Amino acid sequence: MHSSSPTSESQQRPTWDEYFLMLAKLAATRSTCLAFPVGAVIVKNKQVVATGYNGSPSGSAHCTTQGYCYPGLSSCDASKTLPSRAVHAEANAIAQAAKHGISTDGASIYVTLEPCLSCLKLIISAGIGEVYYETTFNTGEGALVRDSFIEEGLVTLKQINLSPEIAQKAADFLVHPISLPS
Ligand SMILES: [Zn+2]
Ligand SMILES: [Zn+2]
Repeated sequence: MHSSSPTSESQQRPTWDEYFLMLAKLAATRSTCLAFPVGAVIVKNKQVVATGYNGSPSGSAHCTTQGYCYPGLSSCDASKTLPSRAVHAEANAIAQAAKHGISTDGASIYVTLEPCLSCLKLIISAGIGEVYYETTFNTGEGALVRDSFIEEGLVTLKQINLSPEIAQKAADFLVHPISLPS
């Protein structure tokens, strides 16, 4: 057994950003689109107000259940013309808040993937001013449009990651029962 100093304890404790990103990653495990898993968590005053993941509209067949996104299309990403069948994680989280009458004004959103332009527009119009994401998505013209929104002061975007120590701790917590009485 090793004794833990206050310093090592605080290093083991996730920051708020890590905490909410981990929750977004957990939400992503519920994704049902074959394109890629994405999770989102809307946060207001350090409280989760809504969550979402990448999946077909409520009540519609899941891409994962069908085994394809559209007939003949292995992934929603594979078509240049068809829109994704999935409601994106951010849109699902905003829809969940709307369905339950929860204000998103002044909130932040944590996402496993940088929002696409459609979601970014929705985020801005929902009054969500801060976006924290793990993986970059927009390139080329998409990135230019994103940057124009940032320059207009509509939204801020920040890429964040889990520290290896916190990621390992979370993995250990998920694999083993943790709240065992001693
Ligand atoms: Zn799909
Ligand atoms: Zn999107």
